Amino acid sequence: MLRIAVEEAFVTQGIVEEWARTLSGAEVEPGFRAMGASILGGSPGAKAVHERLLDLGEGRIRHMDETGIAVQLLSLTAPGIQVFEAVAADRLARESNDLLIDAIARHPERLAGLAAIAPQDPEGAVRELKRIGHAPGIKGVIVNSHTKGAYLDQPQFAPVLEACEALGLPIYLHPREPSPQMIEPFLDYGLYFAGWGFAVECGLHAMRLIMSGAFERYPRLKIVLGHMGEGIPYWLQRIDNRYLLQVKLGAVRKLEKLPSDYFQENFVITTSGVCFQPALRLAIDVLGIEKVLFAADYPYESVEEAVAFLDGADIKETEREAIYWRNAARIFDLGERM
Ligand code: MN
Repeated sequence: MLRIAVEEAFVTQGIVEEWARTLSGAEVEPGFRAMGASILGGSPGAKAVHERLLDLGEGRIRHMDETGIAVQLLSLTAPGIQVFEAVAADRLARESNDLLIDAIARHPERLAGLAAIAPQDPEGAVRELKRIGHAPGIKGVIVNSHTKGAYLDQPQFAPVLEACEALGLPIYLHPREPSPQMIEPFLDYGLYFAGWGFAVECGLHAMRLIMSGAFERYPRLKIVLGHMGEGIPYWLQRIDNRYLLQVKLGAVRKLEKLPSDYFQENFVITTSGVCFQPALRLAIDVLGIEKVLFAADYPYESVEEAVAFLDGADIKETEREAIYWRNAARIFDLGERM
């Protein structure tokens, strides 16, 4: 069975150094501060992950061989360059993209990637997309949720959404810690982290895009959500139902289509970090088999576990094939690798 994994992380040494500088500065975003030392590879466990993130070559390919992954679609890990000031963020996005393009060129059969952009500087982000958006192996864009508390539906980011639509580049909207405006109650009990806060933050980001009417303006824009859709497939009926009540009450603007229509037409989801048959079943039932893609979330999650889960999931063989590679090949234009 061919397997394409589409949410596979890396980082560059330059970004790690800038993270360290930012964390030692006077003003640190609370979510980034909470991630703290672990993000720099401080503890022994974090160190192993850290070394894997930095490896875009032989170690990564060997691990793919050992776990049966044919292709990794790489993306700059959260929070990437989104915690930096605009000038540094632009520079490090370019460096990171150049490194990524080099790595893909060395292993064109095995690696593809998503371009990093610095939303802090929307014009710079558009310039970067025009520079490398169609470089060999670049198949979309990574945005690690909020940028200093700002979300992509806000007017300053319109040129970025427009460019992604025009260039035919899907945006992988990847989670990070909740934004500074809402993180405080998440800081207790570790709730800011990947078990809960990440999905709340990223799900909110997706819902803001839908409710803002972004897909009226950019009907061909594609958004990819990890983690079985960050909970949204479970809520779709209630999202529509309560939206319609709010429209009736005059509390929100009526969109051209229902929120669930935009989710069905403009979004696909991936299995990253979720090895749970009921969640997989629900995702397939709600969205259809063509909208669920496989991802392992290397090196944060166990690829062995993700593969064992999907290999053994109670679905048809044609469904397994769609999730493992057919959908990814279509959505990310990876056909030449098949
Ligand atoms: Mn991830």
